[in-house]
Amino acid sequence: MALIEITDLQRQFEMGGETVKALDRVTLSIEAGEMLAIVGASGSGKSTLMNILGLLDRPTGGSYVFAGEEVSRLGRDDLARLRRERFGFIFQRYHLMSNLTAAANVEVPAVYEGVGSADRARRSHELLTRLGLAERIGYRPNKLSGGQQQRVSIARALMNGGEVILADEPTGALDTRSGEAVMEILKELNALGHTIIIVTHDMAVAEQADRVVEIRAGRIIADRRLREKPAVPLLETGARKRPSWITGFAQGVGNAARMAVTSMIAQPLRTFLTMLGIIIGVAAVAAVVAVGQGSKERVATQLADLGASTLEIYPGTGWGDERAGTIRTLVASDSAAIATMSYVRAVTPNVMTSAKARYAAKSVNVSIRGVGTDYFEVYGRKLVAGRMFGTDQVDRAGTEAVIDLNMARRLFGGGDALGKIVMVGRVPVVVVGVAANPPSGGGSEIVVYMPYTSVAARMSGSQRLDGITVRLQDRANSAAAEAGLTKLLSYRHGTRDFFVFNSDQIRKTMERTSQTVSQLITAVAIIALTVGGIGVMNIMLVSVTERTKEIGLRMAVGARTSDIMLQFLVEATVICSAGAVFGVGLALVAGATIGGADGDFPMIFSVQSIAMACAAATVVGLVFGFFPARNAALLDPVDALSRD
Ligand code: ADP
Ligand code: MG
Repeated sequence: MALIEITDLQRQFEMGGETVKALDRVTLSIEAGEMLAIVGASGSGKSTLMNILGLLDRPTGGSYVFAGEEVSRLGRDDLARLRRERFGFIFQRYHLMSNLTAAANVEVPAVYEGVGSADRARRSHELLTRLGLAERIGYRPNKLSGGQQQRVSIARALMNGGEVILADEPTGALDTRSGEAVMEILKELNALGHTIIIVTHDMAVAEQADRVVEIRAGRIIADRRLREKPAVPLLETGARKRPSWITGFAQGVGNAARMAVTSMIAQPLRTFLTMLGIIIGVAAVAAVVAVGQGSKERVATQLADLGASTLEIYPGTGWGDERAGTIRTLVASDSAAIATMSYVRAVTPNVMTSAKARYAAKSVNVSIRGVGTDYFEVYGRKLVAGRMFGTDQVDRAGTEAVIDLNMARRLFGGGDALGKIVMVGRVPVVVVGVAANPPSGGGSEIVVYMPYTSVAARMSGSQRLDGITVRLQDRANSAAAEAGLTKLLSYRHGTRDFFVFNSDQIRKTMERTSQTVSQLITAVAIIALTVGGIGVMNIMLVSVTERTKEIGLRMAVGARTSDIMLQFLVEATVICSAGAVFGVGLALVAGATIGGADGDFPMIFSVQSIAMACAAATVVGLVFGFFPARNAALLDPVDALSRD
């Protein structure tokens, strides 16, 4: 059976409502090892026939059997496989990729075949050397003459074997001498067993073939045999060993990444402009996340400064109530009653006054806090030295006291305060503990803590409390507790002559604010990245249009739909990832210049947030690269090749 069997083949084009019959019932059979020329006037259908023979185009009718297989039923990827493994194309205009060297151009078909790079390089060097281009291996096409370029494209056709070589006007763009050289090569290849099919309108070229088929207006009008088909060795064919799915994919990504970088470097300005959107987007994301993190930590410190979450009970109807000082119903037994509630963890009465404190020759004005033994537990604070006074001190209005660091420094310098006796007003007190300064808000206040009973008995002379501070159990509901305490005290006082201040409200407000800020930040980040992504998509779409010819060529030499798709997806991803790296750099520079941890914009960069920005950019690349990639992958090979 012949290698190629075409029967009643038709190819019609719809052009402005009219049907053009480019091929009209063509029947032709070609043996393996033949050298055949197809001749005819311009527009007679030669290229159309060639494209169908080479599986770049599909017939609209009739049958085409290649090597025993009906190919009009094959899918895109099976056609791509046949093109890659059995065919080699030579075009009138060479169709070399301008940003690749001669060797790299020759290797393209093997890339899609999954051949390793060392094997590829060896074979491309061998082929180029055989074709007399050993010195030109590293040259780009624009440094090569037409004849040299055509020889590179012959090497490319042979890269995967090139069992059947299809040459559409291979000498059409060449001077006579180069044209003759190309024909010599084709004849040599034929002698080695390659099947050669040449399209030409030049009779001198056609007559070098063994057989000349003439077509006119889509029909074969003559089929002459000039000389007998020489007995040539048959090339070995058949399926090659293919890498596994996973290595194939890894190789594909690697190759696509290399191609992406090559084409990015070839057009640096455009690459930079494409990346700009992503750079700004990622910089915005990284900066804004850092600001978010910074303000979150600031809020967290402020919350920690607030101490444990407490309920504070004061006499009167609210802050600034002038009669509060005259209300005498808030007393220590209220505090004791509150302590029995199940949701209460600790409670302390508070009375406040002030006096002069003296030790040796030094004296300072101090605030005196009359408190219970649980005072520091209530506020979640720790002593830095010594201990708190015990219940016995409260019971008998004792004179043990805790002073804060401010006071210790003022009265004792750096020295030990414990055990010293200090005069507070006219009361000599024994220092048993030193507490850290009260958290922010205390300012430069100097504080001594004494049993509230002692303050009442020795200083103020009144049992009235200035307030009661309650710390709830960790899992208690503060609103319910507030209601419970209000009820309890209203019952005890017979009236509601107090108010409750719930520090949890401040905490909640701050947390809510910080949450709103981070939502806002997320929104800004999403918008920035989307805009960047749209920019990338836009340029990629233009790039697909610009590179349609390249895509067509890649398909002609056997790239699958998925290879083309992968190439553009990887390209978009590489651009976005590179943009992400620059963007993060930009954000770090911005962070270093405008936002220290305590500036107006506290910025805290974490590895996590940077990784997230980069990951987001990659996802953007994939998402926005998908549409252009699909556009490229779905191009029709013939259409793409003929596009200018
Ligand atoms: P040749 O290569 O012999 O010059 P072609 O095979 O390119 O001729 O074209 C044969 C005929 O088919 C011409 O009339 C041409 O206008 C028509 N034709 C080829 N390709 C297309 C196409 N994609 N759309 C419409 N008509 C086409
Ligand atoms: Mg043509």
